[in-house]
Amino acid sequence: MMETILLEVATPDRLLVSEPVREVQIPTSHGYIGVLPEHAPLLAELGIGVLSYVTGNETKRIAVSGGYVEVRPERVRVLADVAEPSGEIDVERALAALKRAEERLRHPEPGIDIARAINAMRRAQARLAAAGRPVEK
Ligand code: ATP
Repeated sequence: MMETILLEVATPDRLLVSEPVREVQIPTSHGYIGVLPEHAPLLAELGIGVLSYVTGNETKRIAVSGGYVEVRPERVRVLADVAEPSGEIDVERALAALKRAEERLRHPEPGIDIARAINAMRRAQARLAAAGRPVEK
């Protein structure tokens, strides 16, 4: 059994990760999947959440939103619309975005796009979770 699988995470404008990992958890549009080396091939839509992976003894986290995931036994490719590694996340900005979205959902004005507010809320929650600041709700 192989001990690692090559993880590649990219957005349309940059490559964030290209390294062998022992395990990766990925938010798909149908929920989280856990991928170990030699996983069966699959193609999925990337959801909103925290992609986490284990290299050495470290677990790293990236907030992602939208895109595609391709799994093969020796390689996982994630092409994300938006992705921020935990160290790049502006916590104050995410808290402000969360507050704004929650306010819109609590007091919806006529014509408000509910789905858009829910997605903004979920992106902010994912950023806070990736930055180690999960919000209790
Ligand atoms: P906001 O309302 O704060 O703009 P958003 O969820 O609408 O948040 P996106 O449209 O998902 O923002 O992202 C726009 C750009 O801003 C992307 O490049 C994204 O990486 C970056 N970004 C958004 N929020 C943060 C954050 N809290 N920390 C770091 N980068 C962020």
